[in-house]
Amino acid sequence: MKAREILKGQMSFYNQGTTRNYHFRIEKLNQLKQAIKSNETAITAALYEDLNKSEYESYMSEIGIVYAEINYALKNLKKWMRPEKVSSPLTMFPAQSRILKEPYGVVLIISPWNYPFQLAFAPLVAAIAAGNCATLKMSELAPAVSKINSHIITSTFEPEYISAVEGGVEAATELLACPFNSIFFTGSPAVGKIVMQAAAKNLTPVTLELGGKSPCIVDNTANLAVAAQRIIFGKYLNAGQTCIAPDYLLVQNDVKPQLVEELTKALYKMIPKPLYNPQYPKIITENHFERLVNLMEDSQIIEGGAYDKIKCKIEPTLVEGIDFNHPLMQEEIFGPILPILTFEDFEEVSEFISHNSHPLALYIFSQNQPNIDRILKEVPFGGGCVNDTLMHISSPRLPFGGVGDSGMGRYHGKYGFDTFSNQKSIVIKPNWLDIPLRYQPFPTSVKLLKKFLP
Ligand code: NAD
Repeated sequence: MKAREILKGQMSFYNQGTTRNYHFRIEKLNQLKQAIKSNETAITAALYEDLNKSEYESYMSEIGIVYAEINYALKNLKKWMRPEKVSSPLTMFPAQSRILKEPYGVVLIISPWNYPFQLAFAPLVAAIAAGNCATLKMSELAPAVSKINSHIITSTFEPEYISAVEGGVEAATELLACPFNSIFFTGSPAVGKIVMQAAAKNLTPVTLELGGKSPCIVDNTANLAVAAQRIIFGKYLNAGQTCIAPDYLLVQNDVKPQLVEELTKALYKMIPKPLYNPQYPKIITENHFERLVNLMEDSQIIEGGAYDKIKCKIEPTLVEGIDFNHPLMQEEIFGPILPILTFEDFEEVSEFISHNSHPLALYIFSQNQPNIDRILKEVPFGGGCVNDTLMHISSPRLPFGGVGDSGMGRYHGKYGFDTFSNQKSIVIKPNWLDIPLRYQPFPTSVKLLKKFLP
């Protein structure tokens, strides 16, 4: 792969103007959908090979989300592409103001391994919808999915339009040195900083979809049985290797025993015999597995804790007896370990969360509206749910992204279209009237001007 050659070819194709056409974009989105449909079995097999994801989980959390993004874009693209009319201030009279949505040009998408299909194709759908050419660099840690993704792209699109690059850090570094018109990166905050530094050299705009420690609060008014089901679902989907999984629980003291009982019940109902359960995903690599096993040290395990090194699987594990100084609370866990911390008074909650600032997601289980309002108002985070987990990611009508440490920029649905578009502001003036207020020589008094300008 020669990154510069890919970019040169795509720049030249982009400059022909073909991708700006509405019908071209619709055709390409339909072709992508068709290609995914034809390769569904292979995608499912690859997700099983890399992560041991079941067919059901793969469809629910990867393939289905990409179809939803494509269908939503197909339905709404005409509307999104229309110039947006905005009113003009009196000082411009007579005038019309418009925002034109034009593609950035040639964009680079770098994706991670944990949802290796969804997180490669959902941004690509937005890039295509917005009329860009794109190069997609997939994660080397999910090689089977990387291969099928690459096959879908190379068998559907000309490389001058959409290109796929397999490979690791070296490939990413080579791509990042090129002056793409926009970079969309999903991955860790540490690599996010490297991406932003590389982009700065070419003044390339970046979207960073990063991770972090997403808290899940349960107060003493919550419906604990329902909360437990939804927490176990959100934490153990993909064995906890989900950027928006609840990283840790903050539970009000007086309901902790009952919540633990409900969590345990939900756990064994939903994921019986996890190490032998064919539907329970594995940890992506041996290194990631070792990191997680080490993190469990010096914590009191309430449930789970067993693991199988050969299969790279770790049981869903609930731990207690740790504080914010424990290694589990110093980094994003990104695995099936759920620490349970407690609080006495709701007043303490925001302070606790501020130990790991600006999470990607936050969840609160409560039926106390002032508590809910307070958290939503006081704590900065990317997005989240009240009385649920994860579900905010599944709507193409909601913007998805982080804030501060957890990233910058948004995508999904129209937000993705806007992220991959330059918003060009245009004022259109007629010639029949020309109020001379702005022309030199200026009047000696500003009195009249002050009537129009605040
Ligand atoms: P990562 O940052 O290690 O890798 C992401 C991508 O960057 C991969 O394609 C990889 O090849 C590339 N890369 C790695 N090191 C690089 C370097 N030095 N220079 C250039 N490119 C490099 O992330 P990961 O381990 O694949 O994914 C886990 C992280 O991603 C977690 O922090 C998780 O929270 C985050 N994540 C965020 C989202 C989101 O939507 N916000 C989604 C999934 C994962």
